[in-house]
Amino acid sequence: MDTKPHFIAECLAEIRDRITRAEQAYHRPPHAVTLLAVSKAQPEQSLRAAYKAGQRCFGESYLQEASAKMTALADLAIDWHFIGRMQANKTRQIAESFSWVHGVDRLKIAQRLSDQRPGHLPPLNICLQIKLSDEPTKSGADPDTLLAMARDITKLTGTRLRGLSVIPEPTSNFAAQRKVFGILRAAAERLADDGITIDTLSMGMSDDFEAAIAEGATIVRVGAAIFGERRITSGDGLVCSD
Ligand SMILES: *Cc1c(COP(=O)(O)O)cnc(C)c1O
Repeated sequence: MDTKPHFIAECLAEIRDRITRAEQAYHRPPHAVTLLAVSKAQPEQSLRAAYKAGQRCFGESYLQEASAKMTALADLAIDWHFIGRMQANKTRQIAESFSWVHGVDRLKIAQRLSDQRPGHLPPLNICLQIKLSDEPTKSGADPDTLLAMARDITKLTGTRLRGLSVIPEPTSNFAAQRKVFGILRAAAERLADDGITIDTLSMGMSDDFEAAIAEGATIVRVGAAIFGERRITSGDGLVCSD
């Protein structure tokens, strides 16, 4: 696949256009949805090309790979989001170098991120990742314990609870996609009923972001539809084509 800057700029423009059309179709306010460009396993030139085309928020999943890109792209004002799996022994580096974390799935991780967030930086924005009931092997918080966990997390000073996130099993059926994203929307409403205000629903990827927008997504995380197939093997030794 083509990595030339014009290709990425065109794909970005098309995704932005589809986001705008989905906002209109589902009666969302204009600009309600932020596009997070998922750049994991993409070379640094591709991020530069997207940046040049106006993209500012980038999502990375692998720490070693992300930190190499942060060094190489230090001249750009990028807003870095960590969207990978959370491991307790990796929280310090995340707390020090990212502005958002999308996959917080337990209180202990949030506590570590809060403790390790450097004082000169604003609080780290976090989303609690929800696990769906039919996915016992996946990481994520159980919707039943969500409320208690959210309440504890709002007391932390180094982090700011912004919202919820989900990574559903892929399905090509639009109604089925909406149904899953609706669970996240309902969970957010339950938190609001309890006085915990959040402003973010991080949901929707290349193949289902329109359904997510229909259900209230405020951040869609789109990778392949912008950059094409993933091309570098992560330095963390993980397979990137997940
Ligand atoms: C890889 C990834 C994405 C992007 O997926 P695409 O299908 O490439 O759009 C979004 N969210 C998370 C958590 C990911 O790991």
